[in-house]
Amino acid sequence: MNKDRKTEIARRRFLKGLVLGAGGSAVAAVPALPRTPSGRLGKVRYGMLIDLRKCVGCQSCSVACKSEFDVPLGVSRSWVEYVEKGVYPHVGRTFLPRLCNHCSDPPCVSVCPTGATYKREQDGIVVVDDGVCIGCKYCILACPYDARFLNPVTRFADKCDFCIHRVSKGLVPSCVNTCPAGARIFGDLNDPGSQISKTMARNRVSVLRPEMGTQPNVYYIGADHTEPGNVKRHEAGEVRVVTHRRDPERR
Ligand code: SF4
Ligand code: SF4
Ligand code: SF4
Repeated sequence: MNKDRKTEIARRRFLKGLVLGAGGSAVAAVPALPRTPSGRLGKVRYGMLIDLRKCVGCQSCSVACKSEFDVPLGVSRSWVEYVEKGVYPHVGRTFLPRLCNHCSDPPCVSVCPTGATYKREQDGIVVVDDGVCIGCKYCILACPYDARFLNPVTRFADKCDFCIHRVSKGLVPSCVNTCPAGARIFGDLNDPGSQISKTMARNRVSVLRPEMGTQPNVYYIGADHTEPGNVKRHEAGEVRVVTHRRDPERR
């Protein structure tokens, strides 16, 4: 473990002690530093690209994530929304897989009073340190994407962490590994030679809610950004977005 990381852990232990007093629990194990997939020198910026032309809405990604992390019923780290619109008989349904965007300017980090939520220097993954989280929910309210929840079992903030335990071993996240359509690509956005960078260079991509200024690192090809609130303005007429998150309207 390098000196900077040791100092960071000491800082988080200290902060948790300030907030909780002497009875705080032990700090969680620190994940190993990841390797740059291509062996390239320099910082990694991990991201995901989801090609909605290929997505068939099978929810395999959602199930794989539930299984990987033993996510309790009623909450999700990864989920798929349905966007339905049109007027019978001209109706259509498209899919929108969702997860934490691992934003470059994440509001969930700046509001966290203990430093439990932080963005990893070495690869940009936004993580929650259970050993320091006090379950105050500030980060859950601050996220413009409804990507976080309070885990009903652990009582800590929870969300996607790009399967850090797999990625640090050179594997792709479980949702990417499971997708039968090959719709999800994970990799280093700072590496122009990575599959994700090359695919993004060849296609028009978009992010969710760019107006929030969070700079998401999850990109989409062919996303339908229709919001339920657009129903009156949208020429397609009826619009319904189905999600199983706590907020019925997409955020
Ligand atoms: S999507 Fe939400 S939880 Fe994830 S980094 Fe961005 S603001 Fe934080
Ligand atoms: S609930 Fe969120 S804001 Fe509060 S301590 Fe935990 S990670 Fe930080
Ligand atoms: S596993 Fe792939 S095809 Fe199935 S819903 Fe998820 S992204 Fe879409």
